[in-house]
Amino acid sequence: MFLIQCPWCGDRAETEFSYGGEAGITRPHNPDALSDAQWADYLFMRTNTRGAYRELWNHSQGCRRWFGVERDTVTYKISGSYQLTPGKPDNGL
Ligand SMILES: [Zn+2]
Repeated sequence: MFLIQCPWCGDRAETEFSYGGEAGITRPHNPDALSDAQWADYLFMRTNTRGAYRELWNHSQGCRRWFGVERDTVTYKISGSYQLTPGKPDNGL
């Protein structure tokens, strides 16, 4: 088990959180204009990075807010967490 820092609640056990996938994925403005292959890329294709990675987490057993985490996928070391800004792209820490 490792600790995740919620931007509002502080360090908590990972069991209090739900994983939300890769951060920075933006929904297309006009999905009807996309081909099936482009839509499938949006839905299913992720970078699967080895090393530093930005991901979304929800503090589901606490404040229930979504936030971003920068974590190394090899060592599991978390370099920080940050609040998401509605309407703005996710630029990480
Ligand atoms: Zn929280």
